[in-house]
This record gives sequence, structure tokens and C-alpha cells, in this order.
Amino acid sequence: MKGSFFMGPRHTPGFEIREMTMPEPGAHDVLVKNMACGVCGTDIHIYHGEKGSAEVTPPVVLGHEYSGIVEKIGDKVTTLRPGDRVAIDPNRYCGICRPCRMGRKQNCQNLYALGVNTNGGFAEYSIVPEAQCYKINDDIDFDVAAMAEPLSCVIHGIDQADIRPGQTVAVIGGGAIGLLMVQMAKLSGASVVVLSEPISLRRQIGLEVGADFSVDPFTEDIQEKMAQYTGRTGADVVIECVGRPNAAQQALQLADMGATVLLFGVPPVDAAIPLPLFDVFSKELRIIGSRINPDTHQRAVGLISSGKLEIRKLITHTFRLEQLEQALHMQMSSDSIKVIVHPHD
Ligand SMILES: [Zn+2]
Ligand SMILES: [Zn+2]
Repeated sequence: MKGSFFMGPRHTPGFEIREMTMPEPGAHDVLVKNMACGVCGTDIHIYHGEKGSAEVTPPVVLGHEYSGIVEKIGDKVTTLRPGDRVAIDPNRYCGICRPCRMGRKQNCQNLYALGVNTNGGFAEYSIVPEAQCYKINDDIDFDVAAMAEPLSCVIHGIDQADIRPGQTVAVIGGGAIGLLMVQMAKLSGASVVVLSEPISLRRQIGLEVGADFSVDPFTEDIQEKMAQYTGRTGADVVIECVGRPNAAQQALQLADMGATVLLFGVPPVDAAIPLPLFDVFSKELRIIGSRINPDTHQRAVGLISSGKLEIRKLITHTFRLEQLEQALHMQMSSDSIKVIVHPHD
């Protein structure tokens, strides 16, 4: 079997297809035939050697947003059989560090992830602990199932945003995460969802998946447009999905009285903005972060099965394993929303 190994940020090419020996599952593991694996912003951070969301030791098979078919099971596996279709939660927690024992596994000091710290989805097969596998229905295609991982992170963010029925929500950034946020905000009862996004393809899809109106932040005055549509210049919940200082500043500008500002995008480690302290005081703002997907993967799989979300529309490109580097570049380009790699094509 083959895998595409990440060779390190200063390597050209960045990836190398290598022959791998077919791994044997341990007692509590399964061997998964990887069918679809999404390219994530985290993969791009890793590719560029940026610090922050994940540290890797190359050569390693990346890919942490994936789905596949159980091929073989370990002796002690009881909930899965060969042939089961699964979506994979890549994040493993130690259970013994202080954050784990305080109910904050997302801050686990020994966190490790499949496709980051150990071989993951950009290979034909992978070893996955039984506990990381979530069964999916036969009618869910693998591309959509691979989106369970980003969706599980979005659900954790939505939990923190605490949207109340009837509220106005502004989503900043219309990549795959922002477009999932738009849909989850609607499902959570928002009466109005506005999407701020400079790329017209993304704005268009944003409207198709449920945004009430959209704004190009580079050419339009978002507060003016909000006033036209809602009679107010701010929102009750603002969700930032870009990870850049200008987007975070825009999020604070849009925060109305009592607003929650969810800073969801992953910024560079040294990114900073001036905080309007008086606004935080006088408007009673709540500014919160969100990290990965503690205990939300099952809910993501449930929502995908329900058909309540438009996920297909977000997948704009697919690539073969040999084209992984190209797939990463496409994920960075404004022509794409979500790029998926098919290890067996
Ligand atoms: Zn990811
Ligand atoms: Zn831990």
C-alpha cells in the first residue's frame, strides 16, 4: 500500500509517495481503508512550518479529516466489523493530565492526533483505535463523511456561541468552516444570518446554504448593509472564521449590546489586535475561543445523517493521492471551498 509522506516545510517537493507495509491492527484498533480525506487549514499551517495548531515530526502521513471502510479488526474490538463505513475523530486525549481531569480534554497536555502526530488519512490504509471510529450510514458518501471532523469542531464552537432563537448572527469568512457556521447558526434558531466574505463564489454558496444576505468586506460597508437589512448595525453573535487580525477587529465592530464574539479561526501565534476596552465594558461583550472537538463527533455524524446540512456544495475539488501538494495549493486558492483527496482513485 502507498502513502503520501510529508517531508517537512523546507522540502521540495513537500510530499513523497512511499510504499508502506500493510500495518496490523493492535487489539483495540482497526485497519481502515481510507476513502476520502479533507485538506484542512491545519495541513496548510503544517506545510508552511507555522507554529500553533500542530507540531509534526516528518516524514509523516498527514490527513486528519477522513472516512473509510473497516478492513480488519483487532482481537478486542467489539463495536465494529469489517465492511463498516466509518468517519474518524483524529484527536486522542491522555485522560491523566490536569485539563483532561478538569473536563477540558481540548487542552490535553498530551493530545495527539491521527494525521498530525501519527500516520493518517493521506494513505491507502491507516490504523485507527476503535474509540476513534464512528459508524456512518451506507447512504452517506465518503466525501461528506470526511466533513464530520470539521463539523464536529464547528459544533463545539456553536455550543460556545450559545445562539438563542431569534438572534442575529454575523459570520465572518465563508470558507468551509464559515459556511458550516452559517448553517449551524440557522439550525440554532438565528432569525438573521449575514455572511461577510470577499470571494464572490463563497458568498454565492453562502446564500444557497442559508445566509440571509452577504457582504463583501473589501468593497461594502458591512454596518451600513446590516442597517439596511435589520435596522441595526451589529449582531447578537459574531463568529469569526478567518484567523486574521482584521477579521477579528471586524468581529468586534459588529458586536452589539451583550454580544458574544466567537473567535474561531486559527491565527498566527503572534497575532494581536487592540481591544476596545470601553466597548467590552459598556456593551458587556463576551469574547470566547474554541479549540477542536471535545465530545462532538457523534453529534456531527448525527447531523450529517439527518440531511439537515448542505455539505456536498462545500466540496469543490477532489484530487488523487499523487496530487496531494496540488490539492494543498488548491485549498489555499480562492477558487476552492473544500478540497478532498481520494487515496484509492
Ligand atoms: Zn482540520
Ligand atoms: Zn490529557
